[in-house]
Amino acid sequence: MITKNNSLSNKTGNWRTHRPEIDPKKCIGCSLCAKICPEACIEMKERLAVIDYDYCKGCALCVRECPVKAIEMKKDF
Ligand code: SF4
Ligand code: SF4
Repeated sequence: MITKNNSLSNKTGNWRTHRPEIDPKKCIGCSLCAKICPEACIEMKERLAVIDYDYCKGCALCVRECPVKAIEMKKDF
């Protein structure tokens, strides 16, 4: 039997205990976070980074990459 499986069906957001939150007032739209994200779940929309929490696994690489400290990890709910 062939099982359908791809990275889209693997919702890595379930792995998370903490979630990154972006302060839109601080974000300068440099897109470095989007480039470093291993899940490719940060999209630039009108020069603002937006996270798809269905796929964000909470690794915090984006937090380390942001040059203006616009991303903060917060406890997930
Ligand atoms: S915490 Fe990790 S997976 Fe989530 S948006 Fe940041 S880099 Fe991507
Ligand atoms: S790295 Fe920081 S400043 Fe750059 S797009 Fe991401 S959140 Fe915005």
